[in-house]
Amino acid sequence: MVCLLSCGPTGCGALGSGNHRSGSIQSNVGNGARSRTRRGDPTGLESWSTFEIASSANTASWRARGHNIGALTDDECLQLLESQGVSVVPFREPPAAAVDTPVSLTGPIHGVEYQHVGRSAVHSVLDCRLVVALGIWSARLHAAGIEYVGHLSMLRPGARVSSTGKTSGHARGTAIDVRYLRFVDGTELDVFRHWTERTRGAPPCANYDETPESSLLRNLVCDAIDQDLFQTVITPHHDNRHQNHVHLELVPGVDWKYIR
Ligand SMILES: [Zn+2]
Repeated sequence: MVCLLSCGPTGCGALGSGNHRSGSIQSNVGNGARSRTRRGDPTGLESWSTFEIASSANTASWRARGHNIGALTDDECLQLLESQGVSVVPFREPPAAAVDTPVSLTGPIHGVEYQHVGRSAVHSVLDCRLVVALGIWSARLHAAGIEYVGHLSMLRPGARVSSTGKTSGHARGTAIDVRYLRFVDGTELDVFRHWTERTRGAPPCANYDETPESSLLRNLVCDAIDQDLFQTVITPHHDNRHQNHVHLELVPGVDWKYIR
């Protein structure tokens, strides 16, 4: 039995106990149920999606979706983070030369700490726009009781997609490889160990007969997909290179999605 909390602006309650708010992520861990609802906003942080960009060509009522996030200018992006209380510092060093607005996080984003689990500090650098997308996801993760995301990398200078040779989002700091999600009670989900239903080529966001941990991990990732925060999402269903992480990438200027 994994104990989980759903914490939001008005307090915390147990997930899987019938104490769901309407529209929240439903984990059903421990009771064997397979149904889930991934619609709605469990966070109450409407400000992300109604933020008004004062000097923008965007319309006044701006929707926090991946396509719009990718279109933010440097100033708009930094202004948005400031308005949300997300603290970053510029990272203007040579390894980040290919990143439009390179920054480093100086603390948690809406209660969720992002930590690189490897050794290279440059892998913790990211583009401002990725911070925005992660910020919206973080508010939702926090509402589900998550306080920590362990990642394998964000910026990887010069990174290319191995299958195509094209420049990877990691080279621009617009992608993150998520491996661990940890709850406030210390329970940790590891993509490598807990994403157990990984039939090659199967859609990642479907209902499967799988362990509660696998289902919960899937729900949390698919919530980001449902919120339309990233254009490219690659899970362990895709290939061996993604057996231990989920690749989440913001791709500015495109209308397509690549969800595997
Ligand atoms: Zn990746």
